[in-house]
Amino acid sequence: MAILKLTGSVGSGNSKNGVPHNDPDDFKKIRDRFVSIGYDWVKDKTIVDKEFIDLIKLFQSICKGNVRVEGGDGRIDIHKNTHRWLAAKNAPGWVDMTGQSGFGWEVVKTDYGNSYTTTWMKDRLSNAGIYYYLKSLFLRSNPPMWVRDFSKKKGGKTKGHGTHQTGLNVDMRLPIKNSLKYDHRHALKKGENDKTYESLFDREAARSQLKMIKAQMNVKVILFNDRTLRKEHLCQRYDNHGGHYHITILPPQRFEGVYR
Ligand SMILES: [Zn+2]
Repeated sequence: MAILKLTGSVGSGNSKNGVPHNDPDDFKKIRDRFVSIGYDWVKDKTIVDKEFIDLIKLFQSICKGNVRVEGGDGRIDIHKNTHRWLAAKNAPGWVDMTGQSGFGWEVVKTDYGNSYTTTWMKDRLSNAGIYYYLKSLFLRSNPPMWVRDFSKKKGGKTKGHGTHQTGLNVDMRLPIKNSLKYDHRHALKKGENDKTYESLFDREAARSQLKMIKAQMNVKVILFNDRTLRKEHLCQRYDNHGGHYHITILPPQRFEGVYR
């Protein structure tokens, strides 16, 4: 149970409505709560600095469901949304996914260290993976979901991606037939009517993945150019999304912690 009671506001700007601003005890509670849920790069901070404000902005962007760090004012006002999200039972934590795996999924390779994401993403991936795995057991032997790229260590602009800034996006490699001969390192480049693609792409496994992801991950959008799966309303077209698919998740409903 998260308990996060404050006497005033913390972060950028000044005191409003006569409540204290950046009171040392409030600051410590906020810092320690961030650290306890995985934002550990602020653990040694003793004052509110730019990096601390950037973290508040990252957190605000996550809670708003933004895939870029934008739309946050960098301050935690008492009893307002950011305070309540930080106190929430399902506050978004921050995790390193390097080398992690579960039933039905494994992180195969991340580029440029883009291995960090929210606990929302990790939990939902785990759920989708379990259902995908169970279905695979009964129907056929599918390769696990090959997870590729998340966000960078402290969030923000992510090399190789237009979004991916807030731990709400993930890229997945495409499942390939005959995975004894081919594995996740074999990248499929083209998405439509290409002979090599058609002979290698395991569309049935991909269909099963997308269905489980849609059912379990509270997705906003899945970007993937495969014409057959688009016709089944499992994904949408977007430039450069022929050789992998991209997922954006939405924030959950908030389960309040103790903030008053
Ligand atoms: Zn992506």
